[in-house]
Order: sequence, then C-alpha cells, then structure tokens
Amino acid sequence: MASENLIVIENMSKSFQSTKVKTIAVNNANFELKRGDFIAITGASGSGKSTFMSLVALLEQADSGNYMLSGSDVSTLSFSQKSLVRNKYFGIIYQAFNLINEMTVYENVALPLKYNKDISRSEFEVLVLDALNKVGMDHRTYHMPYELSGGEKQRVAIARSLVNSPALILADEPTGNLDSKNSENIMMLLQKLNDQDKVSVILVTHDDSQAALANKKYRIVDGNLSEL
Ligand code: ADP
Ligand code: MG
Repeated sequence: MASENLIVIENMSKSFQSTKVKTIAVNNANFELKRGDFIAITGASGSGKSTFMSLVALLEQADSGNYMLSGSDVSTLSFSQKSLVRNKYFGIIYQAFNLINEMTVYENVALPLKYNKDISRSEFEVLVLDALNKVGMDHRTYHMPYELSGGEKQRVAIARSLVNSPALILADEPTGNLDSKNSENIMMLLQKLNDQDKVSVILVTHDDSQAALANKKYRIVDGNLSEL
C-alpha cells in the first residue's frame, strides 16, 4: 500500500466547560494515519476516545491544533464545508448503530448519497445494492430496522458508511452492543474492507483481541493520546 498520509493531526485539544468544571477531553493530540492503515484506539471509559473520533470526523470543532486531510488543512473550513468533506471521505459507525427507524434498509443506506453532489439519483440503486451486497445484507433491502437483529443492524450501518466509497471508516466501539459471534463477524467485515478494498479504519475498542487486528495502536489516558 502507498504510504501517503491521509490524516496528520498536530497538537489538537478539545475541552468542555460545564457550569462548574472544565474537562480537557483531548489534550494536545498528535496522530497520523496513512492510506490503508487499520488503527486501533483503546482507553478507559471517559478517557476521550469518542471526543477524539468526533474531532477526526469533523463533527466537533477543536479548540486548537492542526488537521491536514489528504494534504489540505481542514481545521479552518466552515461548518457546511466540513459536512461535505465528512460525507466524501468518512464512513462513521457507532455502538448504537444509529439507523433511522422510520426508514427502510434501502433508504437508510441511500441517505449519504443524497448529500453527495457528485452522484445523481439514477445511480443510487446500484450503489445501495452494491454496499448491501458487500456486507451480506442485500436480502434485507426493504426491511425496517426493527425487523433486524443487532448484528444485522450494524452490517446495514456499515453499508451506509460505505455507500460513498469513503477513504476511512471511523468505528466507535462498533461491537459494544453485540454478542461475541456477531462481534467477530463485524470485525471480519472491517478487516476484509481494509484488506481487499483498501479502506482505512480507525477502531475504538475495549477488546485487546480486536485491537490486535490493527497495524498501528494508540492509547488514550485522561485525554492524552499516545502511540503504542
Ligand atoms: P470515551 O469515549 O473515552 O468514553 P468521551 O470522549 O465520550 O470518552 O468523553 C471524554 C470526557 O469528556 C468525559 O469526561 C466526558 O464526560 C467529557 N465530555 C464528552 N462530551 C462532552 C460534552 N458534550 N459536554 C461536556 N463534557 C463532555
Ligand atoms: Mg465513547
């Protein structure tokens, strides 16, 4: 795989101020991801993992620091520019799947395409079915989320994350709500996407056996990120 940097983050910090306390959720983080990397981030509950993922995903605004994505400075983009960049480069999956319950599997997976100006509506069906096929869920295209098991919901969420052909999947404890068999299937799927389709992955996990799949590991302790 080419060793081109997709992400370079330098000295990035993010605090939250509530009425009484200030929490430094991410403290001076330095982070590098090369195209094709599978990176695991581990850390205790409340250590700042999800905040860091939201910063990488351009969902949170950092207080300070530099963020280069594919050679461009993205830290100074406007809110709407960040949304476009996020939709183009990133697929995001969460512990709670975050499917929209009122929409079919098809509609859920099609959602990111609606915000992609480069793709016309006539292309949607092929792309949605292709993404569902990749995760082995094309036989459930017109089901509703409540008709699916947890493992199936997460596979649909992965299809949704893939539909715009992202360079990077951000997975924040994606197996936290799954039994061990389904967890293993989701990990095999992420590994396959990384191996075969060369999608980069950042995986937040509590599980050392999952972290062992990564080619690079970071740990976060009280907001302090370090490479292992
Ligand atoms: P993790 O994902 O590792 O469990 P988080 O990134 O969710 O940790 O949280 C890190 C710290 O930042 C915690 O102390 C948490 O309470 C605090 N935090 C996270 N989000 C917010 C927020 N929106 N407002 C205030 N504090 C927050
Ligand atoms: Mg978290």
